[in-house]
Amino acid sequence: MTGVLLFSLLACTTLHLLSRALRRYLLKKETILLDLPFLGQAREEATKIKGTVVVCGGSISGLLAARVCHDHFERVVIVEPEAWLSTEDGRICESWNQRNKRTRVMQYNSTHGNLVPITDGLTRLFPNFEAECQKSGISIVPGDFRLSPGGHTVLCPHHEYSTGSVPSTILAGRRATETLIRRLTLDQQTYPNIQQISGTVTGVKRTTTNSDDGTDRYLDKVTIRTESGDSRSITEIISVLVVDCTGPTRAGEKWLRHAGFLANGSNNIENSSLKSSKLKTATYDPQMHYMTFGLSIPPSIAATIPEYVEKKDAPGIFAYKGDASKTNTVCVAAKGEGDFLTITCGAWGSNASLPDKFEGVKAHLESVKSATPIPEWIWNFLDLCQQPEVQSTLQVTKVRTPPSFWTHFESAGDVLPSNWIAIGDSVCVVNPIYGQGGTKAMIGAVSLNSTLHQLYKKSRTEQEKQTFLPQDFSQRFFRTQANKIASIWMGNKMIDYAFKSTIPEEGETLDTGSFIRWYLNRLERLCDSDKQIGSLFWHSLNAYGVSIDVLHPVIFIKVIFHVIVTSKFWYGSR
Ligand SMILES: Cc1cc2nc3c(=O)[nH]c(=O)nc-3n(C[C@H](O)[C@H](O)[C@H](O)COP(=O)(O)OP(=O)(O)OC[C@H]3O[C@@H](n4cnc5c(N)ncnc54)[C@H](O)[C@@H]3O)c2cc1C
Repeated sequence: MTGVLLFSLLACTTLHLLSRALRRYLLKKETILLDLPFLGQAREEATKIKGTVVVCGGSISGLLAARVCHDHFERVVIVEPEAWLSTEDGRICESWNQRNKRTRVMQYNSTHGNLVPITDGLTRLFPNFEAECQKSGISIVPGDFRLSPGGHTVLCPHHEYSTGSVPSTILAGRRATETLIRRLTLDQQTYPNIQQISGTVTGVKRTTTNSDDGTDRYLDKVTIRTESGDSRSITEIISVLVVDCTGPTRAGEKWLRHAGFLANGSNNIENSSLKSSKLKTATYDPQMHYMTFGLSIPPSIAATIPEYVEKKDAPGIFAYKGDASKTNTVCVAAKGEGDFLTITCGAWGSNASLPDKFEGVKAHLESVKSATPIPEWIWNFLDLCQQPEVQSTLQVTKVRTPPSFWTHFESAGDVLPSNWIAIGDSVCVVNPIYGQGGTKAMIGAVSLNSTLHQLYKKSRTEQEKQTFLPQDFSQRFFRTQANKIASIWMGNKMIDYAFKSTIPEEGETLDTGSFIRWYLNRLERLCDSDKQIGSLFWHSLNAYGVSIDVLHPVIFIKVIFHVIVTSKFWYGSR
């Protein structure tokens, strides 16, 4: 008997230790949590890699990539076509007074939420982050997003953190977020090696020496078209690394094909391994539409609803998403910088009707058919938003969000140049309603930093530290990044496939992943009563969970138990 007990104890302990080790391994592989401590740790100036990094695109991904590269390379040049972004207006503290408008980023005035990894990354990259947020009226608050999938409000796992609250996020819309990151990155006093120039990258050139040592797999120049008044000129920058951050334009792929990479049987490629195109792009279309109502509520008016005052210092005022078996709508109110907030009415499907006037917001919120009653103060708050002082600040924008895609550079093998990488929306675009695009850009920047850190640790001599990137550099980076964005892609897709209007990926149907969707739907029903399940939702939204979390035996048992209990109730009520 004692033997059996001892054996069971030993087996349980071993299993426990093994599962902890597996989870730690997956945390490293699938999230940025264990990479974050290395962010912002710069090499000594003398050991920085010689040469210039050219970052193509000066939006969120480009700015983050440039800041990371500053810690590892001698010089960084950001090339951005929108010339005003290189002026004071592109870095202004009070972003609401910005005179210029973004022409290449359609979501500049749409709703925008920042998840926790963005703040976790920015605080490490910029020691003056908090002070600069303050100058821009951006609050830093615990990341309680008050999500209510199917109408069940996720229990936020404050209790799991020693500070008594979950890690923080910034309350800032898209314009304020991008402008803040630009001001921090282009601070010439702190980061003198980063320069931004106005121009459009038009192509890349490969190293001309075609030797057996593979040097022809490196790019050595970036071609840029600059415009000044009526005159146009073409410049070339010799580059040690090229980072494509051109967003959904995915301009990098075109430059590579033109330079003889990726293309089938291109004439100027001797090496046969470069002849076959192995680059695959997965695409599906959630057919998401939404209206954003941007408002500003002065404190004196806000004070009339105490619940709003109490809840406004959180990124989510409320976020109701309907159960896909009953409805296709979503309604979210999110706090931005200063007194700004946005109310978003969204729907899956091309025929979905959306309110084009603020008066229609209440009906839209009702259309989510919440499983739990929507609190009275929310309806009062929507009434308050209709007061003339608030309505006079109203800005309405409508977007049809683009199809989601993921280009699998990580599986492209040696058809890519060794010193070319891509980050952010140039690699993968996900349904923006989940607010994970900025997090994906941060994941890319953190992956780049970790790849460069590993390279530094492996270099034996000072000379090695400062020279060329290895031939497998690009592949190492893309694999690291892909492992960390996979959960965002899959998670979004599984939710989007629940809506009949979604156009699935080639080779799939909307039934793909139906068991997972059923299981997730069951979890949704428990996320407002079970702390462990609430924590699972919060961590996976922030890309801080790992793939096995959802299959934790205790969670699995809870789901099964819930299925049994609720079906008994159903039979009893007949
Ligand atoms: C409607 C909508 C709402 C969204 N809401 C959210 C949200 O709430 N939260 C969130 O985190 N994410 C959200 N996203 C996603 C988020 O905006 C993107 O993931 C994020 O902007 C990615 O940034 P990026 O730098 O990769 O690309 P982009 O922001 O698209 O920037 C690309 C940059 O490249 C430049 N460029 C283009 N071509 C060239 C060229 N040839 N040479 C040089 N530069 C070039 C452009 O001028 C631009 O500055 C939303 C997206 C949409 C469409």
